[in-house]
Amino acid sequence: MARTEADITWETVLGALQLQVPAHTFETMLKGSRGLEMAAGHLIVGIPNPFIAEWLEKRLYGVIQKTAAGVLKGPVDVQFSTGPALPSESSPEPRFYSKKANGYPNGASLNPKYTFDTFLVGECNGLAHAATLAAAERPGKGYNPLFLCSGVGLGKTHLLQAIAHKVRESNINFRYVTGEQFTNEFLQSLREGQADRFRERYRTLDMLLLDDVHFLIGKEQTQEGFFHTFNELHNRGSQIVLTCDRLPKELGPLEDRLRSRFQWGLIADLQPPALEMRLAILKVKLERSGIRLSEAILELIAKRVSTNVRELEGALNRLVALVELTGQPVAIEQAERLLADFCTSRPLSSVGAEKVLSLVAQRYSVSPEGIKGKDMTRNVSRARRVTIYLLHDYLGHSLVEIGRLLGGRDRSTIHHALRKIALEMAPLSQFQDEIRQAREELDTLRRSA
Ligand code: ADP
Ligand code: MG
Repeated sequence: MARTEADITWETVLGALQLQVPAHTFETMLKGSRGLEMAAGHLIVGIPNPFIAEWLEKRLYGVIQKTAAGVLKGPVDVQFSTGPALPSESSPEPRFYSKKANGYPNGASLNPKYTFDTFLVGECNGLAHAATLAAAERPGKGYNPLFLCSGVGLGKTHLLQAIAHKVRESNINFRYVTGEQFTNEFLQSLREGQADRFRERYRTLDMLLLDDVHFLIGKEQTQEGFFHTFNELHNRGSQIVLTCDRLPKELGPLEDRLRSRFQWGLIADLQPPALEMRLAILKVKLERSGIRLSEAILELIAKRVSTNVRELEGALNRLVALVELTGQPVAIEQAERLLADFCTSRPLSSVGAEKVLSLVAQRYSVSPEGIKGKDMTRNVSRARRVTIYLLHDYLGHSLVEIGRLLGGRDRSTIHHALRKIALEMAPLSQFQDEIRQAREELDTLRRSA
C-alpha cells in the first residue's frame, strides 16, 4: 500500500510521542494508530477502537496536539476517527525477532511466543498439533509434506513457528519463510540472474516451513520454482510443512501437479474452538497478563467472539488494557459496550445500509427520501452527513457506493462531505456525540439482529 503524506506525518509524530509518554501507554494506546488524511490545518488519525480514541482525547490530547504542531511547524487540529476501515488492533502478524538475532539470515522472523508450550490443544486442532509435533521431533520420518489448513487466526502460523523453535536447538538445517517472502526471493533471484544461488539455498535444507502457501496462487513462475524446490527436498527426505488458508482441492488456479504434491502427505485442518476451549484459551492468556477479570466477563468474551483465536485475543487485550489503565474492575455492561464491535456471530452486514438510513431519518425526524434527495434545510443536511459518515465509517461502504445509495450523488460530493464531517467531528463536539449515539443504536440493533 502506498504511504500517504498523512501516514508519514503521523509516524513522525508517533516517533516524537514515544519519547514523551510511558512505553506501556504508547504500546496499548498509540501503536495501532494511522495517519488517514491531512489537509490545511488538520490531521485525521485513525484509531482502532472507540475506547482508545476516547481515552486519547481525555488524557493525551494536549500532548498530541502540541507534538503534531511541532512536527508540522505550525498549528494543527488533530482529530481521531474510528471505524472498520482500520485494521483492528489484533490483526497484524507480530514480528518480534530481528532477522539476524535468531540466526537465519534472510528467513522470516519468529515470534518468541509461538511455541508448543503456549499452544492449547483441543478437539479443534488436535490432529494438526500432533502432526506438527511429530514433524518437529522426527523430521522427514512421518507425514511428508504436512499440510495445515484453516481460516485466519486459528493457529497455523503459531504451530509452524513452534516447529522452528523446537528444531532450532538441534543442528537441523531449516528455513521458515512466508509465501510472500519465498515469492520475492525467487523473483529477485531471477531478476539478478542468481537462480543457482536461490536453488542452493533451498535444496540443502533438512526442513522447509512455508507459511501461507496460498500466496503463490496465480504466480506461475514462482509456482514453477516452488515445484522444483519441493521435488528436490522431498526426494532427499527433507521435511516439508506448509500452511494454507484452504484445502488443496480448493486452491483454484493452482497448477494441478503442485496440488497433487500437496496431497501426498497429511492434510490437517484447524477448526474454530468451541465455547469451552475458547474459555480455556482466555484463562491461560489472562493468567499471563497478570490482570484479573471475573468469570462472567470471560464468559461474555468467549460467547461474543466465536470465529477465531486472534479475535479472541484482541477482545481480551482490550479489556485487560482497560483494567490496567483505570485500575478498576470492569463491569459487565462496560465490557458489553467495549466488545460491541466484536459481534462476530452477527456480521456488520446484518445491519444494512437501508437500516442506517431509516435509523438516522428517525433520529432527525426526516424521511429517508429526504436524505436521498436535494433538500438542504439544516436538519436534513445534518441527517445526510450523519448517514454518509455511518455508511463510510461503520459499514465500510466506498464513496461510490454511498453516492449511489444517496440518490446518485457522485464520488467527489461524498468525499467533500466526509471532509466537512471530519472538521465537524471535533472531540467532545455535539456532532461527535450524535454520531456516537447513532453508532450505539446500530450496535444494539446488530446484537439483537
Ligand atoms: P493463522 O496463522 O492461522 O492465521 P495464528 O497462528 O497467527 O493464526 O494465530 C492467531 C493468534 O491466535 C496467535 O496469537 C496465536 O498465538 C493464537 N492461537 C491460535 N490458536 C491457539 C491455541 N490453540 N492456543 C494458544 N494460542 C492460539
Ligand atoms: Mg498465519
